[in-house]
Amino acid sequence: MFTIDKETFKRDYLKKFLELHGRELEEGTDHHKYEALGSLVRDYVAKAWIETNKRYKATGEKQVYYFSMEFLLGRLLGNSLLNLGIRDICKEALFELDIDLDQLENFEQDQGLGNGGLGRLAACFLDSMASLNIPGNGCGIRYKYGFFEQKIINGSQIEAPDYWLREGNVWEIKKPDKSEIVKFGGEVRMEEVNGKLNCTHINYEPVLAVPYDTPIVGYENDVVNNLRLWSAEPVSNEFDFSSFSRGDFLKAIEYKNSVEAISHVLYPDDTFYEGKILRLKQQYFFVSAGIQSIIRNFKDNGGDLSNLDEKIAIHINDTHPTLAIPEIMRILMDEEGMSWEDAWRITTNTVSYTNHTILAEALEKWQADLFKKLLPRIYMIVEEINRRFCQELWNKYIGQWDKISNMSIIGDGFVRMAHLAIVGSHSVNGVAKLHTEILKKQEMKDFYYLYPRKFNNKTNGITHRRWLIKSNPELTKLLNETIGTSWIKHPTDLENFTKFADNTEVREELARIKNNNKKKLAKIIKDAQGIAVDPNSMFDVQVKRIHAYKRQSLNCLRIMDLYNKLVENPNLDIVPRTFIFAGKAAPGYYLAKKTIELINAVADKVNNDKRIKDKIKVVYMENYRVSLAESIIPATDLSEQISTTTKEASGTSNMKFMMNGALTIATLDGANVEIRDEVGDDNIIIFGLTEREVLEYYQRGGYSSWDTCNNDPRLRRVTQDIINGYYSPDKERFKTFYEHLLTYNDEFFVLKDFDSYLNAQAKADELYRDIHKWQRMAAINIAHSGIFSSDRTIQEYATGIWGSGYLYKNL
Ligand SMILES: *Cc1c(COP(=O)(O)O)cnc(C)c1O
Repeated sequence: MFTIDKETFKRDYLKKFLELHGRELEEGTDHHKYEALGSLVRDYVAKAWIETNKRYKATGEKQVYYFSMEFLLGRLLGNSLLNLGIRDICKEALFELDIDLDQLENFEQDQGLGNGGLGRLAACFLDSMASLNIPGNGCGIRYKYGFFEQKIINGSQIEAPDYWLREGNVWEIKKPDKSEIVKFGGEVRMEEVNGKLNCTHINYEPVLAVPYDTPIVGYENDVVNNLRLWSAEPVSNEFDFSSFSRGDFLKAIEYKNSVEAISHVLYPDDTFYEGKILRLKQQYFFVSAGIQSIIRNFKDNGGDLSNLDEKIAIHINDTHPTLAIPEIMRILMDEEGMSWEDAWRITTNTVSYTNHTILAEALEKWQADLFKKLLPRIYMIVEEINRRFCQELWNKYIGQWDKISNMSIIGDGFVRMAHLAIVGSHSVNGVAKLHTEILKKQEMKDFYYLYPRKFNNKTNGITHRRWLIKSNPELTKLLNETIGTSWIKHPTDLENFTKFADNTEVREELARIKNNNKKKLAKIIKDAQGIAVDPNSMFDVQVKRIHAYKRQSLNCLRIMDLYNKLVENPNLDIVPRTFIFAGKAAPGYYLAKKTIELINAVADKVNNDKRIKDKIKVVYMENYRVSLAESIIPATDLSEQISTTTKEASGTSNMKFMMNGALTIATLDGANVEIRDEVGDDNIIIFGLTEREVLEYYQRGGYSSWDTCNNDPRLRRVTQDIINGYYSPDKERFKTFYEHLLTYNDEFFVLKDFDSYLNAQAKADELYRDIHKWQRMAAINIAHSGIFSSDRTIQEYATGIWGSGYLYKNL
């Protein structure tokens, strides 16, 4: 294992600093100091990176490639130091040089190449694969601009570009010699040569895909895996100014711009699909580059393509990388001369697919004519996959035309990506038990009947290294002192903490740690927005993307109701609370942006009303991202997981919160169900419609939000307050919000769940009054959070889907 002593580290650091900046430490800014540290750590990592690669080559172990449009890594310095096992030494050494490591870590820009849960899952998976000694590689896009930066101005979200590379990126290494060419447009010419059909792609636009590699450090095991992100560049000989006439010159500029646009920006909508051609271009770009480089590398190492599926597993994170399937087919047939049958067997045995959502508006389908024009050869292959698949259906479902046309891959003029993903892979998994059951019995019912053995569940997880050890050092210390350190390698050993739930001292220590974390967060809030919040109040937190199905609206309505009660009776006996929100709305999502405005309008009124004696405060923290989550989550008392049942496929912040000793108030949705099963009904606060009730209403109707509202005076009041000028002199300002609830019958059952939610909140209030009761529950939540480590999830993927990672068992 990598080790270093303090003095050597100091010497290395000073040397690096001088080399990099040509000046002495005293003259450097914090950013200089951060950069020197980052580069030094990368040097330390480099050796193990090369060694890991050599070892993988020597053992010939199965390699996993995780394809994802998004990797939401956050900051890398702190976690790389932690995983290398030198964070403490490094901290001490820097301290002696008068440098505060924590402060330096804050200088790192988040690597925000993702929207939310899906991208963060990919990042947690990379960390777990490396830590479990699984040969796992990430493959994605190196967006020049990550997820936009959010500013809240006059209560509204304003988007600014996230130019995260402005100050450079010490972690990446550009590998121009490993570039690939990706081909767009043009025509396909078929020729028969010696009785074989030959395919040539002509008149295409070539794009150079240049890889940038980032090391992914495993936890104290000398493993360093690779994340490869592709950047689009013009092919240089196509862009030789001197050889162009004037017209060609303009064309060349156009070409350059259109190429660079491919890896320019991350699409900022999650759960909403827009049929933009640039997005399809992005998808094929990174998939084609990734697959070509995998196959090239495989052959260079003497691999035999006829058993590719035994040596390589390719996983697609949602349908975004589904073109991996026809791309492998293309290479095996057109470039390697394989038959369709052989290529198909190998492809389907290699690829596996994760479904992340059942929201209809998120399902990807591409207009077939656009698809065909952009990717003519790939389209031909998809057509043939579809033709053969429909043949299979015809043989099985004689005369059932509706069923067949519903299931086909190309239909109604669209290519349906989920259908292609299911047909072309050997495994389809959901991300929580409930979600997988809904896929099987509703959304993908026909496919489940056809291929029951493909379907399986892999409940999501989170890396406890970032979300507990790194972000909550005081809790980590308490755990180590009470139950030892085995939980770090075996997170389910956290269960040993159960017996300390009844220990008074431990409970008091938990309360003290929580209070410290809250004080730190209170300072961040004060510095950022000048609002003073009381660390002794309950921190009641909802942080996640803003979306109607996640129901920030429900949370907001109950705050409005509580505020009304307090104005009416300022002496009302309630536990003081600080309501904390954070999250970004997709820039084109009007209702979500209005939700942010309403929360801020409520915050403004509540925070400035002297009558209610500071009993409640509302804070909207701007620019939610991984590093902010790491400050908020350890400081949370109550975790709000209140999505409309059936809509949140899993959720992962719910897991981060419980691991940090927050209690959860939740609907029985996504992984909340499994959290409930782990901690028991007494240690979580559940409310709201059940899955059955929701599905019944959707199928048979019978819900009237208008009636629900009229029968509840609290609801009548708060819904009126939205449009009567109470929160804004402009009565029109929140009209859409109101109409969604009342005119359009409240698609997400906000009003329906209101009463049950308020009762659940009253229960939380009562529990919080007794810190022993509360901290006992917190302890039980921590003790049962180990199963939600992404190490467990990855072990399940490795053994259940990829057939890889036999080594981890020997740890
Ligand atoms: C974990 C995480 C998410 C996912 O949150 P959910 O509540 O599960 O939707 C989104 N964004 C960031 C920055 C996260 O860390």
